[in-house]
Amino acid sequence: MIITLKKDAPQAEINKLVKRFENMDLQVTMIQGANYNVFGLVGDTSKVDKKNVQANPIVTNVQRVAQPYKLANRMFHPEDTIVNVDGIQIGGKKIALIAGPCSVESEEQIVRIAEEVKECGADMLRGGAYKPRTSPYAFQGLGTEGIMDLVSAREKTGLPIVSELMSADKIDEFIENVDIIQIGARNMQNFDLLKAVGRTNKPVLLKRGLCNTIEEWIMAAEYIMAEGNMNVIFCERGIRTFETYTRNTLDLAVIPIIKERTHLPIIIDPSHAAGDYKLIESLSLAAIAAGADGLIIEVHDDPENAWSDGAQSLKPERFKDLVAKGKAIAHVVGRSL
Ligand code: PEP
Ligand code: MN
Repeated sequence: MIITLKKDAPQAEINKLVKRFENMDLQVTMIQGANYNVFGLVGDTSKVDKKNVQANPIVTNVQRVAQPYKLANRMFHPEDTIVNVDGIQIGGKKIALIAGPCSVESEEQIVRIAEEVKECGADMLRGGAYKPRTSPYAFQGLGTEGIMDLVSAREKTGLPIVSELMSADKIDEFIENVDIIQIGARNMQNFDLLKAVGRTNKPVLLKRGLCNTIEEWIMAAEYIMAEGNMNVIFCERGIRTFETYTRNTLDLAVIPIIKERTHLPIIIDPSHAAGDYKLIESLSLAAIAAGADGLIIEVHDDPENAWSDGAQSLKPERFKDLVAKGKAIAHVVGRSL
């Protein structure tokens, strides 16, 4: 619910109204910055009688928000949210570039690849230490050792690190060591995990579930935000359709839709969408043209021997070419890369 007040409403009256809503267990969010005259109500607003509120002389308008998501809703926050990760902004003019292997395989491997992707222009390093694999017999990730290898790579290159958290019992390890916590596609609706990352103030990269609608995805972000963490970055990584030529189907329409419906940044993962390194460049360039705030791309310097997702991993030299072309497209759409 959005409540608009008269410009000259006396502060004491505003406070009274706010208190009244707070007493109804509603969260009151100011919308217009320093000179508040609009606020949003989040919670069970079905108990608020619209006519009663409208009868208050300081109120000029009361509007119910039709969408089930509130804190993520652009109506509650007209400006774009820019998520800050150690000085790197996601959601601003510059498109953020995250690259690295699917899995951390050793300290030496991740440090080497971090240096290579940095050289090509990456702003951040990705690497999985806890891997959500379809088969229980497949490599499950190096765990804590992998996280510490990522920390070494950050120390050597200065690149902030992004890694996937699969279970809330590892959250302290992630709060201490990782710069962006990734919630994988398979955990997009793991509500306890969403609440747990919501109670931290770490930026969260929220991947879209394999079979989830846009509204379900935004509601997952709402879970995180409802706990107090507003640093949510959406990540489209392809959805499951009837098509089997590609690993998943990259849904680029989500970029303008997420930007219209929410104020949060959105980045694209062409690697898990395509499943094939030959398609990554085209999809990345299309994502930039469509207004993506960033890309997260799997890069490996020995894809034939990668421990996971080698077929979709770019070699550093191909990644470098992609970055050069991406810069040109970014320029055309008024961004930089
Ligand atoms: C990954 O980033 O390596 C990964 C497993 O991604 P997703 O959750 O999108 O499948
Ligand atoms: Mn992968």
